[in-house]
Amino acid sequence: MTTFITIFKQVLCWVAAMYWLLLGLIYNHAFAQSAGTFKDITFQFASIDEGRDFLTQEDDFTQSFSEFDLSARLHSMGKVTKAEFFDSVMAHITTFSEKEQNRISTILQNQPEILSALRVSVPDNKILFIKGVARHEEGAAYTRRNAVILPEGMLKQNDKGLERLVYHEIWHVISRYNPDLKLKLYAILGFKPCEVVLPGNIANSMITNPDAVDYQFCYKTKMKEGGPKITVVPLIFAASPYDDPAGKKPFFAYIQSFPSLLNLENGQVLKPSEVKNYDADFFGTAYFIHPEEISADHFSFIITGNGQSKNAKLTEKMKKMLMKYSK
Ligand SMILES: [Zn+2]
Repeated sequence: MTTFITIFKQVLCWVAAMYWLLLGLIYNHAFAQSAGTFKDITFQFASIDEGRDFLTQEDDFTQSFSEFDLSARLHSMGKVTKAEFFDSVMAHITTFSEKEQNRISTILQNQPEILSALRVSVPDNKILFIKGVARHEEGAAYTRRNAVILPEGMLKQNDKGLERLVYHEIWHVISRYNPDLKLKLYAILGFKPCEVVLPGNIANSMITNPDAVDYQFCYKTKMKEGGPKITVVPLIFAASPYDDPAGKKPFFAYIQSFPSLLNLENGQVLKPSEVKNYDADFFGTAYFIHPEEISADHFSFIITGNGQSKNAKLTEKMKKMLMKYSK
């Protein structure tokens, strides 16, 4: 539980929402991309219609749904269609209050040089902010294409927490459209792109993280007990089908491990605690379910200066790489 609390305090994003729940619980569109820097990007708060229109378009996230993704997101034991998923999303969109807009705008106006000079591109040089109702995506903040989606509960935290969250999510948008920079940060963490074919039982029970749809990143390590090098891939999948007849159990409650590590040498599924160098001390954050999430936390530490990396050397390496892209 301590781990969950730590994760929640540090990132407050996709998987972080499981904390609430356990207590009471690339994009295929063509887009106009122009070379520029982060300071050229504009930010827009979506109306209800704009939010609905954006989130009911297909993209890498909606095209990657497993059977579990759909049934669990609608809390249904039966099969769920994508049309039903989109209907649900339509009912979940609301608008930011003036006060909420002011808080987010203030955060975005205080850009350090390393960020404002960062050479990155996003579609139409725009990042859209969409507000969801409290239960949307189990209350987790997340991104789709060039939009950051913040459910109601995520806006109730203090200014420092909201600042960390906003820049964590902004990294996901930057990462999606700037693969060169993304892969360089992943490499610093020890992850490289690789080809992975999932066993059928895992493929059907995958829980797709909208911020890290592509799971094909390999990490070389060893078992703690010793032995030869092994290659593992971090995955998030459900341990069992959605089975709550009352439809109240959140999909985060089904996650087998945070993450499960698929050993490509023999198909065995491992826990992070079973291998070397797969923990918060090594990655600098307890939110190590995917290199994308680790990168997002470090990005947020670097930009806001108010996070707490557990591996300052690693954060510094990532900062130096960002500085290369800021010249
Ligand atoms: Zn994230």
